[in-house]
Amino acid sequence: MTTVEAVIDFELEPELRELRERVAEFVREVAIPAEPRDVGGHGTDEGLRAELQEEAKRWGIFGPQLSEELGGLGLDHRGTAVILEECGYSLLGPQALNCAAPDEGNMHMLDLIASPAQRQRYLVPLAAGEIRSSFSMTEPAPGTGSDPSMLRTTARRSGSGWVIDGRKWFITGAEGAAFTICMALAEGAGATMFLVDAENPGFRVERVLEATDRAFPGGHAEVLFEGCEVGEDAVLGTVGEGFRYAQVRLAPARLTHCERWLGAARRALDFALSYVAGREAFGGPLGELGMVQEKLARSLIEIETSRLLIWRCAWALDRGEPAKHESSVAKAHVAEAVNRVVDNAVQVCGATGVSGEGPLARLLNELRPFRIYDGPTETHLWSIARRQLRAHAAAQAAAGS
Ligand SMILES: Cc1cc2nc3c(=O)[nH]c(=O)nc-3n(C[C@H](O)[C@H](O)[C@H](O)COP(=O)(O)OP(=O)(O)OC[C@H]3O[C@@H](n4cnc5c(N)ncnc54)[C@H](O)[C@@H]3O)c2cc1C
Repeated sequence: MTTVEAVIDFELEPELRELRERVAEFVREVAIPAEPRDVGGHGTDEGLRAELQEEAKRWGIFGPQLSEELGGLGLDHRGTAVILEECGYSLLGPQALNCAAPDEGNMHMLDLIASPAQRQRYLVPLAAGEIRSSFSMTEPAPGTGSDPSMLRTTARRSGSGWVIDGRKWFITGAEGAAFTICMALAEGAGATMFLVDAENPGFRVERVLEATDRAFPGGHAEVLFEGCEVGEDAVLGTVGEGFRYAQVRLAPARLTHCERWLGAARRALDFALSYVAGREAFGGPLGELGMVQEKLARSLIEIETSRLLIWRCAWALDRGEPAKHESSVAKAHVAEAVNRVVDNAVQVCGATGVSGEGPLARLLNELRPFRIYDGPTETHLWSIARRQLRAHAAAQAAAGS
């Protein structure tokens, strides 16, 4: 757990380097120039998203994480890490490449678990960017949040199918999504995932919540499942396996969040660098002041340590490991680190940093929630520490026997 036994090679294959350059160019030429049009209250406008996706297809960079069979580039987790960081440089990049949350995590899970019919009905159009999806887990108190064991939404058997009842909130993208994946407690079996169509009469989006961020199309919604009838074919995978599948989704989904936000943190640091290089105070550029330099240097170290942890986790996933520990370590570090980078950038840019005169104020609002979703930092630290203590106890026991 604490040692990595491998020969380390940071060299990127020439094809991956070329792809990264192409994505960087797309971000410069297409995504960043489109940013002034991204002014919606709850997420990127669907029309703008569709237009950018068409453009990304033309550039041959659409769906980097998707298999070729699904129209993607078929990258492994390490390749995906490189490309998602690059496209994260613009908040519009992941939307354009169809590798944004929550669709990207849902596609990954459907690819592994969905039945052939479910693949055809949900995954194929999702991968093509024709529809959006959401993932419904979190509930208002007293339901589940950080603690999955507090899940209250139920699914009871009825005839040849199920009836789901429960309330969920902070469901990203539910407004405008074609379907949601709902986690519910199935009668007699425990946590189970169900595919629920948006037009199911027993499902409705009650409201879209106000939040600091607005990069996710549809925003974050409160949704109600009320006498929501679904057939047996709506069960994703096996009844009672919901929490296990959530892990299948969460480890890579956490990592891809880290990758995209790492790109955004680089954008913040680049903006800060040009500001402090150009802005004069006390007889010279701000960038020559030691305390400003410390923030620049610390920010670069945050970015580089984040990238290393991401790559290590991607490597473990590529070896077929669950990477639960690695993804927890990466998530706990990267969520805090990228927020420190943006905060440092804001500070050295003075009033410009907290204004609309550049990307920083927006990034501050977009990145802050990442310390909370996909497991608040504290829950990751808690599980990392418990794993450490268990390993220590096991080592003690082995030494004593
Ligand atoms: C922008 C955004 C998007 C989201 N998208 C989705 C989505 O698409 N689908 C979905 O299902 N959910 C989504 N969520 C919900 C998210 O998963 C939950 O917010 C998260 O699981 C925390 O649950 P909670 O908000 O109920 O916090 P609570 O469980 O009430 O916890 C509050 C705080 O208590 C502290 N805490 C909790 N556990 C521990 C611990 N063990 N040790 C120490 N401190 C602890 C942490 O600081 C935590 O932030 C989203 C949230 C946000 C902010």
